Amino acid sequence: MQAVDETGRNDLIVIAGAGGFIAGALTRYFHERGFTRIRAVDKKPLGDWYQRVPGVECLSLDVSQEANCRRVCEGAAEVYNLAADMGGMGFIERFRVECLRSVLINTHMVEAAWRAGARRYFYSSSACAYNTELQKDPAVRALRESDAYPAMAERGYGWEKLFSEMVCQEYTAERGMKTFIARFHNVYGPNGTWDGGREKAPAALCRKVIEAKDKGLDHIDVWGDGTATRSFMYIDDCTLGIDKIMHCEQLVATPINLGSSELVSINRLADMVVEIAGVKLGRQHQLDAPRGVAGRNSDNSMIRRILGWEPATPLAEGLAKTYAWIADQYARRKAGQAVVHDTI
Ligand code: NAD
Repeated sequence: MQAVDETGRNDLIVIAGAGGFIAGALTRYFHERGFTRIRAVDKKPLGDWYQRVPGVECLSLDVSQEANCRRVCEGAAEVYNLAADMGGMGFIERFRVECLRSVLINTHMVEAAWRAGARRYFYSSSACAYNTELQKDPAVRALRESDAYPAMAERGYGWEKLFSEMVCQEYTAERGMKTFIARFHNVYGPNGTWDGGREKAPAALCRKVIEAKDKGLDHIDVWGDGTATRSFMYIDDCTLGIDKIMHCEQLVATPINLGSSELVSINRLADMVVEIAGVKLGRQHQLDAPRGVAGRNSDNSMIRRILGWEPATPLAEGLAKTYAWIADQYARRKAGQAVVHDTI
């Protein structure tokens, strides 16, 4: 028998940010699992969405506006808020105001979800919410969930995430709506930003290597000295992880890491892309480019303990798929065909 608050295949699921990378993949994920009523929303015009899933209601609306959030959340059993004005280091270091203004999105979405009587609400937080003082060494200790406080989040983007986490927690504490919060650590994969200024390191390096190969260049530019370390989670692990977290009673109003714990330096990441491409390329390090914290990794003790699971797609495997997709996009663009990509 279905539990009272278990979401059925015919209940309405709302996914915000669905014209973007992760929420686009999440929309496809639920569609493939047989959910028949999915409402996807993004402020981008429909033609600019990375993925349009057949049979899904797609709305082009700005969810930083309260009235739109009410319209979007009407009748929802579950709401997934992944809409945010965001990008890689190049974006979040330069556009802090835009990042901070994403606070309007979560503030209005969580209220609208609660008013609509939604049973569960998901918020996509970030490892950028963690205390930056703990991330000054490339040989970092992986970040545990308790490391967000005392707070010293990434300026702009990270503080918005930390504040919005708290808003979600209080909607559970005071108003009884079950909220769920995942702190994503760098997500990569096909159908995401690969050019235009919002892209992150894996996609940017793939594009640079593809371009160097195409134009016969002998090197690529790498931001920073390449010693900074990060972990990267493949998109399929992210969508599965969101589903698991959203439906785990132990995780109500409890932020949890959702990331890979396979730590690599940016130099190693570049090596891997070059190996996939099967070329030899030198590096030109751009030491004045944005680089973010020196090191960051995900401590997965909590997710292993509670879910008995953690993101495990090997980086080499996920990168090969991402490289192939970006190479195809690059070729299409070169041939004058339409491709979807973000701009600042
Ligand atoms: P993305 O930029 O591809 O997708 C975000 C989408 O939100 C975009 O399509 C954008 O148009 C939409 N959006 C922005 N403002 C909106 C508004 N006012 N109304 C409606 N739509 C709006 O980014 P993503 O990588 O898919 O990230 C999804 C979520 O995950 C974000 O909250 C992001 O902060 C978080 N996150 C992502 C990563 C990562 O590595 N990609 C890491 C940590 C956290």
